[in-house]
Amino acid sequence: MAEEPKLIPQVTKELKPFFDAARNHQLMVQKCDNCGALRFPAAPLCLNCDSDKASWTPVSGRGQVFSFTVMHRAYHPAFKAPYILAVIELDEGVKMTSNVVGIEHSRVKCGMPVEVAWDKLSDEVTLPRFRPASQGAAR
Ligand SMILES: [Zn+2]
Repeated sequence: MAEEPKLIPQVTKELKPFFDAARNHQLMVQKCDNCGALRFPAAPLCLNCDSDKASWTPVSGRGQVFSFTVMHRAYHPAFKAPYILAVIELDEGVKMTSNVVGIEHSRVKCGMPVEVAWDKLSDEVTLPRFRPASQGAAR
């Protein structure tokens, strides 16, 4: 059987801290060293104060579905339609584009609590997906 096609992000120098942490199941976002604003995706300048000084900081991996769509067409063989493309608003306020997994598509709702679910694509790249938050999880 042919190997399944994969679409694996390139680990650039700028994103290496994010992927190093993700391999260890720790979600990180950038934090401005000047004003403390969090941001994701990584960017060279702070959107709040224009500072170019930033560090990576861990976040909880918990949040809620801000917006989503059910993709019925796969635009790459690595994507198995239907799947959910979602914007997740993390508890820390940062929005992250990802997928919602582990739930019937018809049950996904905006505002639904979710938590990170790690998806190892290669030895180097593990991606954050999101699943419904476990019952009784501290929020
Ligand atoms: Zn700033």
